[in-house]
Amino acid sequence: MSNTVPLAALVDWLHRFRTAVTEKRDWLTELDSAIGDADHGANMSRGMAAAVEKVDTTAPATADELFKTVGMTLVSTVGGASGPLYGTFFLRLGATLGAVTEVDPASLAAGLRAGLDGIVARGKAEAGDKTLFDAVAPAIDALDAALAAGEPVSEAAATAAAAAAAGRDATIDLVARKGRASYLGERSAGHMDPGSASATLLFETLAAAVAG
Ligand code: ADP
Ligand code: MG
Repeated sequence: MSNTVPLAALVDWLHRFRTAVTEKRDWLTELDSAIGDADHGANMSRGMAAAVEKVDTTAPATADELFKTVGMTLVSTVGGASGPLYGTFFLRLGATLGAVTEVDPASLAAGLRAGLDGIVARGKAEAGDKTLFDAVAPAIDALDAALAAGEPVSEAAATAAAAAAAGRDATIDLVARKGRASYLGERSAGHMDPGSASATLLFETLAAAVAG
């Protein structure tokens, strides 16, 4: 099996993520109703539906075009904090991958890392602030470690998804220091962060798409 990721798999990832946030819309909204304003499911499903529709009608020819389309659509269609954050993630990912149709594992990891850096540049989240950072950062650290240990990209992506899920679950005990949930102070503890839940879907669907 090839150890590179073709453009078609990246397109498949976006379709799978759109489907996942749509299927889990009510759950994401429920999480956000506990410590936010009950719109995370609607934000993510509306944004990804628009992004995938744009991708399907314009058929981007390269990875940078693909993720630029997705990032710009998310920024323009999602009003909540998650729109600019996910939008920046995809824009940086695309810019780092460049005009390619095939992505090797190290480039994928570097692109995802650049996406995370974009999230931090935009939202200033740090580890333990109870945000999507707490799922995305451990996922990328795990991806880097797995690739460095010689795992094929499909296994490494699954390892990353498991790390995202562990990070998501660890947000339950945290007190929020960024985003709307931070307005609740100590009362934000005891609830899973909605953004870390959608970000785990992002890595689970990446693993599924890369596995083919
Ligand atoms: P809003 O909070 O504007 O209603 P959403 O409900 O769509 O937007 O998204 C909320 C999620 O966004 C949170 O659960 C959190 O994971 C993430 N988030 C909020 N602020 C930040 C930030 N500054 N940095 C990183 N992630 C953040
Ligand atoms: Mg919200």
